[in-house]
Amino acid sequence: MKFYSIAIDGPAGSGKSTIAKSVAKGLEFIYIDTGAMYRAITLKALELNIRNLADETLYDFILDTKLEFVNDLMFMDGKDVSKEIRSEEVVKNVSLVSSLKYVRDILVEKQREMAKTNNVVMDGRDIGTNVLKDASLKIFLTAAIDVRALRRFYELQESGSSMSYDDVVADVMRRDNFDTNRLNNPLRQAEDAILIDNSELTIEETAQKIMHLFKEKNLWQI
Ligand code: C5P
Repeated sequence: MKFYSIAIDGPAGSGKSTIAKSVAKGLEFIYIDTGAMYRAITLKALELNIRNLADETLYDFILDTKLEFVNDLMFMDGKDVSKEIRSEEVVKNVSLVSSLKYVRDILVEKQREMAKTNNVVMDGRDIGTNVLKDASLKIFLTAAIDVRALRRFYELQESGSSMSYDDVVADVMRRDNFDTNRLNNPLRQAEDAILIDNSELTIEETAQKIMHLFKEKNLWQI
């Protein structure tokens, strides 16, 4: 049986997760938020007060961590951690954790497993370039920095954060810089990815555009 996959990569605040969720719903695919997986591992390391994540002896700790998506919620070791993984502390540490090769190796393997037996929409930073090199459709999603920072700012405000707009801009730029310049699977547009700048598009317009591209490219029967 053939399974379809849509890879959506892009920087922080480009609207990836909301758009990916909407596309997954429209096509009845499973949505896999790989950022949530890196965040969950970061949360677990913080909870266990693990200071030296660069130590590869922690390989087993990550391998043993059960990560699952249930109705778009992130479950870690059987517990819904969807809210906790959005905390400022996790945000501050996640880029470092996700830059470690052994962390990526394990999570990429888990992501590939999920795509082997399901139609998926997967979003992240290295999906088109590494995780799903043969994806049925690859999208590189971006938007102007002020638009992306404002989206993050509202998202954080909704979750009760008191971070200022200027701090959010600085954080988005810091993470972009870190994710783009890291050694292991940096954020990059795959050669065969379609670039969409959604600075002036709504979530729904962007999702519709992606679904249209997918159906066109894969001769999808509506
Ligand atoms: O997409 P989100 O902002 O939730 O991702 C959190 C962090 O996880 C990113 O800043 C990046 O460092 C890391 N990440 C990654 N590779 C992915 C997805 C996320 O390195 N495929």
